[in-house]
Amino acid sequence: MQTMSLNHINPIQWQQILADAVSDPAMLLERLQLPANMLDSMIAAHDSFSLRVPEPYLQRITPGDVNDPLLLQVLPQPQEQLEVKGYVTDPLDERSSNQQQGLIHKYRGRVLLIVSGGCAINCRYCFRRHFPYGDNQLGGAQWQQLLDYLKQDNSIQEVIFSGGDPLATTDQRLASMVSDLEEIPHLKRLRLHTRLPVVIPQRVTPELTQLLQNSRLQTVVVTHINHPQELDDSLIAALKELRNATDQLLNQSVLLKGINDQGEILCQLSEALFDAGVLPYYLHLLDPVAGASHFKISETTAKNLVGQMCDSLPGYLVPKLVKELAGATAKVPIMPILKNNGQSIS
Ligand SMILES: *Cc1c(COP(=O)(O)O)cnc(C)c1O
Ligand code: SF4
Repeated sequence: MQTMSLNHINPIQWQQILADAVSDPAMLLERLQLPANMLDSMIAAHDSFSLRVPEPYLQRITPGDVNDPLLLQVLPQPQEQLEVKGYVTDPLDERSSNQQQGLIHKYRGRVLLIVSGGCAINCRYCFRRHFPYGDNQLGGAQWQQLLDYLKQDNSIQEVIFSGGDPLATTDQRLASMVSDLEEIPHLKRLRLHTRLPVVIPQRVTPELTQLLQNSRLQTVVVTHINHPQELDDSLIAALKELRNATDQLLNQSVLLKGINDQGEILCQLSEALFDAGVLPYYLHLLDPVAGASHFKISETTAKNLVGQMCDSLPGYLVPKLVKELAGATAKVPIMPILKNNGQSIS
């Protein structure tokens, strides 16, 4: 929602696109020529987790196709209202590793910082749809506390900017955070986990690429792309910029029923990522978050799907199939089942 008083500030292009994201179910129906009888159920789900889809992402959705794999990632659906046993609001028990406001230190050597509570898009399967972002705003005092935490633990080598989406933050604020981190001698790497450039490629600004390129820290960017149809020309161009500015450009996906649960689509995704200079890193099993049970894929199906990828792709194009378990010391690897291997090797 725009107010008159903000207009004169003339925000940068990506911020304007972010502000103009479609968040009205009726508008989504109209823009994508979807059946009018979908509206009531959309509104019901939208009331508990709002619809949000920015224009550049909307443009990659095929109008009139209710099964479009990009649409299904953002469409509020009646199944979200179902209460399903085992699907909870904090599946990863992150509240218990939330040692400091805005910081999650779960795995050795690396900490995750909630740099921003905001996202450019609301993905219906998101495991943070119930996370208390409001409590995790990094204000000045919290930021100082957090720097102290990092300074006094020299086992920490890597800081991961996450969220929400860390790139919902301005370049100016990112630059100031990075410069504080660069002063901590034992830090070696800075990693960003982001979906923002995927949905708004204009987010890859010269300021951002310069920040990544000029840091004394090694930089890793992990994008979040789930389907080859997400890789349009504007995203490919943005990824090339990121690739030139970073030490590693990786991608993680979530395995989602009805969206990317076919071996052929997953293979196409890996090929398209590589063409854009990105290596597949993780393929996640869905976290059992309340409201997302309709996206679930069984572990056996997942093992077979990644087995199919192994059967037809070079090893570096096969992402690691993982799930997250509360309390585990790392993401838990799941072994794929190969076609020629009669028995499970797990
Ligand atoms: C996923 C995750 C990391 C990073 O794990 P990698 O296996 O290094 O990619 C770090 N901290 C938390 C809390 C995570 O969820
Ligand atoms: S961009 Fe990431 S954090 Fe934000 S809603 Fe989507 S999956 Fe969740």
